[in-house]
Amino acid sequence: MRRLLALLLALALLLSLAACGSNGAGNNGGSGAAGDSGAGTIQEEPEPEPEPEPEPYDIYDPTVMPQGGSRDGVTYVAYDGVVEHLFFHPVIAYPELAFDGDSQEKGLDDYMVTVTEFSRILESVYERGYVLVDIADVWSETTDESGNPVMVRNTLYLPEGKKPLILSYDDTNYYDYMLENGFAYKLILGEDGKIASWGIDPQGSEVVSRDLDAIPMLDKFVEEHPDFSPFGAKACLSVTGYQGILGYRTQTDRTVEWTAEREAFRQSEIQAVKPIIAELKRTGWTFGSHTFGHIRLGTVGMEKVQDDTQRWFDEVGSLVGPTNVLFYPHGERPDGDDWKNTGPVFQYLQGQGFRILCSVGIESFSAVKKDICAVICDRLHPDGTTLRSKYVDQRYGQFYDVREIFDWDARPDYGVNWQ
Ligand SMILES: [Zn+2]
Repeated sequence: MRRLLALLLALALLLSLAACGSNGAGNNGGSGAAGDSGAGTIQEEPEPEPEPEPEPYDIYDPTVMPQGGSRDGVTYVAYDGVVEHLFFHPVIAYPELAFDGDSQEKGLDDYMVTVTEFSRILESVYERGYVLVDIADVWSETTDESGNPVMVRNTLYLPEGKKPLILSYDDTNYYDYMLENGFAYKLILGEDGKIASWGIDPQGSEVVSRDLDAIPMLDKFVEEHPDFSPFGAKACLSVTGYQGILGYRTQTDRTVEWTAEREAFRQSEIQAVKPIIAELKRTGWTFGSHTFGHIRLGTVGMEKVQDDTQRWFDEVGSLVGPTNVLFYPHGERPDGDDWKNTGPVFQYLQGQGFRILCSVGIESFSAVKKDICAVICDRLHPDGTTLRSKYVDQRYGQFYDVREIFDWDARPDYGVNWQ
C-alpha cells in the first residue's frame, strides 16, 4: 500500500514537472521551485559534495498476503490474535550522568531503561519470535453497512510462527533536561548517511554513535536481523513540540518576545531536521502526536486542548506529516475515561483526525470503539518501575526474563520486588 502510494506520488510529481515544462516560461507565476531565484538569473553554486547513495529500504504491507503465500522463501500465515505493544522513552546512554544523585535521578530510574537494558530487551523479544509491525497497519478505517466510518482490526499476514509487536518511543524530542543527564542530544545523519545520535560524553567529548540511542540502535539491530522486521517497520515516534523535535529546537515560544533573530534560528533548525525526518520515514519509522505541550488530556480544559492540538499541527505536523495516532501524555485518558465514555475531548481529538489513541496499561489491551470511528489501546512500559515490580514476570514474562535484563551495574540501589 505504502509502496503504491510512493509510486503514485512519484508519478504525480513527474506529471506536474512535465506540465510545468510544457506551460513554458510565461506561465509559471511564482509556483514551485522556480519562484526562488527568478528566471534568467544564473547563480554560481559550489559543486556539492556527493551524497552517499542510500541503501534501498523495502516496506511491505502486513495486511496483504504475499503473492503465492510466501516471500523470500518464508511462508506467511494469517494472524488475528493480540498485537503486543511496548513503549520506551529515550534510553540512558551514560548511566553515570543519569544516576548521579541529583533531583532527576529517581524519575529517570522510574521511566527509562539504559542502553544495556534496551539492547537486552531487543535480543529477547527477537529470540522469542516477535516481529515488528507499524501501529497504523494494525487497524484501518472503513465504513459499516449503514455507511458510517468505523475502525476495524486488520488480519495480519506474518511469517509462520511469528508474533506481532508494535514499538512506540515517547518524547523523542531530546528535552533540555535530558541533555547533561546522560541522553543523546539529537539525531543526525552520519557520514554513511544513516541516522546516528550526537551527544557529549561524561568527559566532555562529542560523540556520534549508533549504539547510544534507541533509534539508531533499532536501525542497526534490524540491519543485523532483517527477519525481526519482515515489513520494514521500526517504531512510531511519539513527539511533543514545546522543545522542538528530535533534538532540533523548531518551536516558537509565547513566553518571550519573538524576534527576527529567534525566528531565523528556528528556521535553521527546521531546515536541519527535515533530512532527518525524511530518512527516518524512508527507513520504516512513523510519527504520532504526544500533544504539543505534554498536556494532561483528562485535566486541562477543552480550550487548552484545542489550542495545543492546533499548535502541534502547526509546528510538528507540518514537519512530520499527517498522522492518525495520538499517545496520551502521562497515559492520562481524555475526559478521565476513554473506554466506557466518549467525552467531548475525545470527540474533539477524533474530529481532528486521530483514530488510534494510546494510553499506558498492564497489558496490550485494545478496543475498537462502537460509538465513534476510533480505536483505543494500552501499551506496556519496560522501565524502572516495571523492571523492579513484583508483577514483572506476570506482565512482561512473554517478552523477557527480567533477571537477564536488569542493569545492576548502572541502576541505583533502590531494590527490586522479585526474587
Ligand atoms: Zn511523555
